[in-house]
Amino acid sequence: MSTEHLDVLVVGAGLSGIGAGHYLQAECPWASYAIFEARDAIGGTWDLFRYPGIRSDSDMYTLGYSFRPWTGEKSIADGASILEYIRETARVEGIDRKIRFNHRVVTANWSTEDARWEITAERTDPDRPDAAPERVELTAGFVFSCSGYYRYDHGYQPDFPGMDDFAGEIVHPQHWPADLDYAGKQVVVIGSGATAVTLVPSMADPGDGSGAEHVTMLQRSPSYVVSMPAKNPLARLLQRLLPTRLSGPIVKWMNALGSQGFFQLSQRFPGVVKKLLRRRLEGLLPEGYDIDTHFTPSYDPWDQRVCLVPDGDLFRAIRDGSVSVVTDHIDTFTETGIRLRSGRELAADIVVTATGLELLFIGGIEASVDGEPVDIASKLTYKGMMLEGVPNLALAIGYTNASWTLKCDLTCDYVTRMLNHMHDTGLRQATPVNADSSVTPAPLLGLSSGYIQRAADRFPKQGSRMPWQVHQSYLRDYRALKRSEVTDGVMVFSNPTSPAVEAEPATVAS
Ligand SMILES: Cc1cc2nc3c(=O)[nH]c(=O)nc-3n(C[C@H](O)[C@H](O)[C@H](O)COP(=O)(O)OP(=O)(O)OC[C@H]3O[C@@H](n4cnc5c(N)ncnc54)[C@H](O)[C@@H]3O)c2cc1C
Repeated sequence: MSTEHLDVLVVGAGLSGIGAGHYLQAECPWASYAIFEARDAIGGTWDLFRYPGIRSDSDMYTLGYSFRPWTGEKSIADGASILEYIRETARVEGIDRKIRFNHRVVTANWSTEDARWEITAERTDPDRPDAAPERVELTAGFVFSCSGYYRYDHGYQPDFPGMDDFAGEIVHPQHWPADLDYAGKQVVVIGSGATAVTLVPSMADPGDGSGAEHVTMLQRSPSYVVSMPAKNPLARLLQRLLPTRLSGPIVKWMNALGSQGFFQLSQRFPGVVKKLLRRRLEGLLPEGYDIDTHFTPSYDPWDQRVCLVPDGDLFRAIRDGSVSVVTDHIDTFTETGIRLRSGRELAADIVVTATGLELLFIGGIEASVDGEPVDIASKLTYKGMMLEGVPNLALAIGYTNASWTLKCDLTCDYVTRMLNHMHDTGLRQATPVNADSSVTPAPLLGLSSGYIQRAADRFPKQGSRMPWQVHQSYLRDYRALKRSEVTDGVMVFSNPTSPAVEAEPATVAS
């Protein structure tokens, strides 16, 4: 039996994988492709996370696709609406017919001789979860990894002392029990990131007894928390006045530039931004509230991700007393709750460990080139979307300081232009090659957040100059990806039988 061959294999049917499907269908109609998805559902993150209140923490006008502008009422949207948006995009464009569910890609070896990837995947049978997975083999001309950035099987959960003694329930937000009943219960949420600030007001009692008796957000150290209107009146007005093909890009750019402006302001004038954020908090929290302890981090804004709360919901819950924030360290879990280093005890029926994600690169795929394992941590990223010396492999990695999709849209556009160039010239191998020995490596993601630092030695690096540098800037990436030639002097196009073709002079932005 002959092995199946695809022009492109997309890994993952989340927000990025469905976006990749759109671009491949629209821009490379000649290409055969399939999306291998390890789970049995579309949506990735937005299908996996089911905790109360799950929502976006960046605006949907930039988290939505540029080819299918978000027209929902809310700019900060709930998880179910985002999942439906992704599913509908897949359905409307027939991308869902390209997905092979329950197919986990496990190995990928690039064969230079054949200029193609030799892929192994494991197919599981959802009706027989205990059965050994079936091995599936195929080849692909190009692999587009849209596999997200974290492990799906478990989140990050520190081993706190005494956890086994706790008589209540311990829940991680990544595996939320559908039947968890927290009405009238004492809940402690450990964490201070986006998940904690989402969960805490959502579990609080709205006044009708349906929520928890009390929710305590227990944090080791505070984060920056900013309130944003859930609805954007200007965007809604433009959407009403203009056809979507005009309002979509205008509203997207408005939001992209707005978030980038805030980021740049924070980087250049952290003192000013700190003062502005504090003044805003003073208006949202009860008089005399200890902002220094609970909402004033030791780092500058955007050294770690800034948490966003829609319409100040967290602060409203603090004001009405249904939620409190405790900043302290855990000494030990006890049978009835948590004892803190200060000696204080927090009673709890349920403890939610919103302690984060366990990062994972390219969905854990073991990649090799001609049988030689790719040492990912030693590689530079090319334009934040390919790996130095690794042919025909692109990665959908979004921004840490703006919506994920802004970068992935640019990456998809670039990948399809590169594929078309290869198709037109008959050159089947595209490899980013670093010939500049003065380029020095630095961590890929500049944030000091714990979950990023924990994984820094497993992730590739960025270089000290373009095209190896990762700017976390939509404007700069727009020039480097959308407004540049794919033949930039660094990307080497070649064939197994012909010598490498020298690319034309560089036209990339510096
Ligand atoms: C709770 C939460 C909220 C977030 N909110 C925002 C936000 O508001 N704004 C923002 O910009 N970003 C946000 N993010 C980041 C978010 O992950 C991205 O916005 C986006 O959903 C990523 O989409 P993706 O398709 O790249 O990855 P994912 O959503 O992670 O999807 C990856 C898919 O690939 C599949 N896969 C992985 N490995 C393999 C393999 N080896 N073989 C086959 N399939 C595989 C997975 O099963 C999954 O379906 C959030 C993340 C989390 C966890």
